Amino acid sequence: MTDTTVSRATFDDVMVPNYNPPAIIPVRGQGSRLWDQQDREYIDFAGGIAVNVLGHRHPALLQALTDQADKVWHLSNVYTNEPVLQLARKLTDSTFAEQVFFCNSGAEANEAAFKLARKYAHDRVGPHKHEIIAFNQAFHGRTLFTVSVGGQAKYREGFEPVPAGIGHVPYNDIEALRAAMSERTCAVVMEPIQGEGGVIPADPDFARALRELCDEHDALLIFDEVQTGVGRTGSLFAYMDMGVTPDILTSAKGLGGGFPIGAMLTRRDIAASFNVGSHGTTYGGNPLGCAVARAVLDTVDDPALLAGVRHKQQLFVEQLEAINNRHHCFSDIRSAGLLIGAELIESLHGQAPRVLAAARELGLMLLVAGPNVLRMTPSLIIPDQDIVQGMARLEQAIAAALKVEQAS
Ligand code: PLP
Repeated sequence: MTDTTVSRATFDDVMVPNYNPPAIIPVRGQGSRLWDQQDREYIDFAGGIAVNVLGHRHPALLQALTDQADKVWHLSNVYTNEPVLQLARKLTDSTFAEQVFFCNSGAEANEAAFKLARKYAHDRVGPHKHEIIAFNQAFHGRTLFTVSVGGQAKYREGFEPVPAGIGHVPYNDIEALRAAMSERTCAVVMEPIQGEGGVIPADPDFARALRELCDEHDALLIFDEVQTGVGRTGSLFAYMDMGVTPDILTSAKGLGGGFPIGAMLTRRDIAASFNVGSHGTTYGGNPLGCAVARAVLDTVDDPALLAGVRHKQQLFVEQLEAINNRHHCFSDIRSAGLLIGAELIESLHGQAPRVLAAARELGLMLLVAGPNVLRMTPSLIIPDQDIVQGMARLEQAIAAALKVEQAS
């Protein structure tokens, strides 16, 4: 039953105003569709910002959650538990990593990665080796350390003083990176594809040079795969297609398919710097989240599902190109699996939020990456017919935005 005693107005009354949600309140979902309090239906191209990799109410996830809910919910890290060990085994069996630290979000996974990189360098070399290098426009989370490492100054403003020993260089610029690195560098952190920064992939040459420079300077390479991991790009993790293996990898978002969980994966020799007491979190590795995440990985780590991601990527791109042929609205369409960005032409710059709002009115949920890029991160198993129907709604929204632009 929908609770009509709460509405968008309640949000302004009782919620800290750091978000500005639209008027609608979704109340239930199924697959790639959502329904709001008024029972209006939406096609979901947003996937909870690259989280709902198996859509809404996937039977395997429902089963895993309810089975575990009937056993034990929480033990804390004073005790270990079966689901956490099974999940860690699954992650280490399917990646380069040998050991895993669990937490509850992407920011926490990155916080752990940055702390571990500093501790590892401190233990082996000394305190001077503490600098972290990151990239302009990168996004790594909203804790104080992760906004400081992130490459968007607006997320740091007003929160100073921020942690020191962090440098930023342009993404995909080998020479700038080379110039910034030194014996003081303990780690470089990179998103294999910048998500919030506009769906920008790392050049293969850049990724290889980055690995070489890290080796040359005895620095760790951290891949933030919070957005690109868990099948999003058509591989279990994006690094698997790059010919470059990181030393630390962070995951969250899709890992829980909608249940909050984060993970930091690494090698045994590096992990050893997090000895007993050096880092921790009460909820990290809790049985409910781990049981769900294992069901997510068991379902996603399947060649047929991953091949389906690439097929659906093609369909998305074809549909976007068809819209572009008719309306000449995009200057670029970028995609890696089902992480898709459509950059608006110059005359529509700044209009991405308006297109998003128009699409929602027409029953389509989208995302933006900055003011000029429409971003789509749907379920990895979104039915083809939902893609085609959603695209028809997007085309209408774009036509409306163009009309406004031409009238002004
Ligand atoms: N890293 C990347 C690449 C992300 O895209 C995000 C979230 O958008 C984060 C980290 C932060 O994750 P969370 O919001 O779960 O803290």
